Amino acid sequence: MFRTHNCGELRLTDVGKEVSLSGWVQIGRDFGGLTFVDLRDRYGITQIVFDQDDHAELAERARKLGREWVIQVNGEVRERTNKNPNRATGDVEIVARELIILNRAKTPPFTIEDESDGGDDLRMQYRYLDLRRGPLQRNIIFRSQLALAVRAYLGGQNFVEVETPFLIKSTPEGARDFVVPSRLNEGQFYALPQSPQTFKQLLMVAGYDRYFQIVKCFRDEDLRADRQPEFTQIDCEMAFVTQDEILDTFEGLTRHVFQELKGIELGKFPRMLYDDAMRRYGSDKPDLRFGMELVELNDVAQQKGFKVFDDAELVVGIAVPGKADLTRKQIDKLTEWVKRPQIGAKGLVYVKCNPDGTFKSSVDKFFDQEALAAWAEKCGAQAGDLLLVISGEDEKSRKQLGNLRLHVAESFDMIPEGSFKPLWVVDFPLLEWDEESERFHAMHHPFTSPKREEVERMLTGDHETMKSLKADAYDLVINGAEIGGGSIRIYDRALQEKNFKLLGFTQEEAEEQFGFLMGAFEYGAPPHGGIAFGFDRLCAVMNGQSSIRDFIAFPKNNQGRDVMIDAPARVDEDQLEELNLKVTFEENQ
Ligand code: ASP
Repeated sequence: MFRTHNCGELRLTDVGKEVSLSGWVQIGRDFGGLTFVDLRDRYGITQIVFDQDDHAELAERARKLGREWVIQVNGEVRERTNKNPNRATGDVEIVARELIILNRAKTPPFTIEDESDGGDDLRMQYRYLDLRRGPLQRNIIFRSQLALAVRAYLGGQNFVEVETPFLIKSTPEGARDFVVPSRLNEGQFYALPQSPQTFKQLLMVAGYDRYFQIVKCFRDEDLRADRQPEFTQIDCEMAFVTQDEILDTFEGLTRHVFQELKGIELGKFPRMLYDDAMRRYGSDKPDLRFGMELVELNDVAQQKGFKVFDDAELVVGIAVPGKADLTRKQIDKLTEWVKRPQIGAKGLVYVKCNPDGTFKSSVDKFFDQEALAAWAEKCGAQAGDLLLVISGEDEKSRKQLGNLRLHVAESFDMIPEGSFKPLWVVDFPLLEWDEESERFHAMHHPFTSPKREEVERMLTGDHETMKSLKADAYDLVINGAEIGGGSIRIYDRALQEKNFKLLGFTQEEAEEQFGFLMGAFEYGAPPHGGIAFGFDRLCAVMNGQSSIRDFIAFPKNNQGRDVMIDAPARVDEDQLEELNLKVTFEENQ
C-alpha cells in the first residue's frame, strides 16, 4: 500500500498513529541531527522528520533526496513543538521509520511553489510541472467542481445531456472554421464546430425539450489576447419558452453555482436594454462594479463658440470621483491613451472641479465658470471630481468614452475587489451593417429571431428598416465580461430564408449549407431558444481573474501553439498522400 492518508489530512487527533504517505519532495533541510522533508501532494503538505540518532542510515538517505523526487514514507504521527499555523497539517509531523524512493526526478526548470520563478514560456513547455503548483491545481479542481455543479443543477431541472459531433459541416458563428480532410471522401473536408448550434436546434425539433452539454468549440480566429482556438461552452437549448423563461433559468444556474462554489448570494440580476447599455456605458457589456455613467452634454456644451463641440453630433462626459488633483502629466497620458488608434478619439477635454468650488478646464477660453458649473451639475460631479469629455459621432464617442471609463477605473484602482455585478443585456439588434463589405452581418448568428413584433417589418421593410430591427437576443455580463449569450430562434422556414437572404446568401447557398435545418423546420419545429456560457471565462471571473488560460489544463499560447507537444506540426508525406492532399512546403521555412 502506498498511502494510508494524503498529505493534507493529518491533525493532532492522529498523533500516535502509524501512517504511510506518498508524494513529491517539496524541500528538504537539515537542522542539527534532524532532516526535515516537506512532502506534497494535491491535498497539501506534511512535514516528515528523519532523526540521525534513531535511524542514522535512514537520515543519510533522506539527506540525498532531491526536489520533486517521488517517495513513500512510513512512520508515526507526532505533535510538532514548532507549529506552523499557516498549514492545515502544521500541528503535526511524521517521524519516519521507512523511506521508499518511488522515483527520482531531474531538478525542475522552475520552482514548484505558489510563486514560481519560471517565465511564461518555460512553464508552458513544462505544463505538467506547472500544473503541480498550488494555484493551478486550485483552478483546475475548481473547474471540475463547477462542471459537476452545473450538471447537477441542470440535471435537476430536467435537462438532457446530449453529445453532438465534432466532425461536421461549417456553422457560421462569425469566425473561421478549422477544417479536417476526409480520407474516405476525396477532396472533401469536415469542419470542427464553432458551436453545436444547429444540432441543438435539431434536438428541439426532435422533442428533447431541454438540452445541455459542456462542450468544446473551435474557432480559427486571429488570436487576440486571452482567446483560445479551442474553448469550452455550457451549451443549452429549451423548447416552448419565452426569452424571460430562459433568462430566469440561467440566472438560477448562475446564482446556484456562485452560492455553491463561492458562498456568494448574487441576488436578482438587473436587465438592461442593449440601447441603454450603449447609451449609458458605451458598451454592450457594462462593468457595473463602479459608477461613472456617460452623460450627454450637448445642451450645455454646444453653441458656446467652441467649434469642435459645435460640429460634433455628441458631446459626452464622465465624472471621475475625487480625481481633480490629477497632474497635467497624468491627464496628458489619458489624452494620449484615447488618441491611440485602438480607441481613435480626436482629443480629450477635462474640467477639474476644484475643492474650493472653482473650475479649471482645458477649454477655459470658451467656457466661463458658470458654463463649466452647468457641465458639472449635469454629470452629477462634486467638488474634487474630474470631468472627462469626448465629442464626435454619437456611437463612436460613446464607445471611446466607455473604454476610457474602464481604463480610468483600472488605472486608479476604483474597482472594488471581490464584488460581482451581473446583468442581462437584452434586445440586441438583429443585424449589423458593415460599411466596408457593404452587407449585413448577423449580430448574434443567423438563427436568431427578430422580436415577434418586428417580424412584419422584417418581411416587408426597406433597407433602413433592417438596420433598426431588434432581436430576442441577450447576453449575460458579469463584471464587464461577457459570460453567456443566446437568443430565441427562428423556427419557420420562410423567415429563416428571409434572414439568409438579408445576410447575402443566395437561395442555393442557403439551401446547400442549411437545407437540413430549414427542412427540419417543416416537420413540426417547436418554438425554441437557448444560450451558451463561456465555461473557461466563467471559471476565471468567479475567481476574480482576468485570464482564462490558467483554468485550462493544456492551453495554447498566444500564437495558437501547444509548445509542450509542439503542435501544430507537419505530417508525413504518406499521410498527406493518403488524404489526397498535395502540399508543397518552401524548404527554407
Ligand atoms: N451558439 C451560440 C454561441 O456560441 C450561443 C447560442 O445562441 O446559444 O454564441
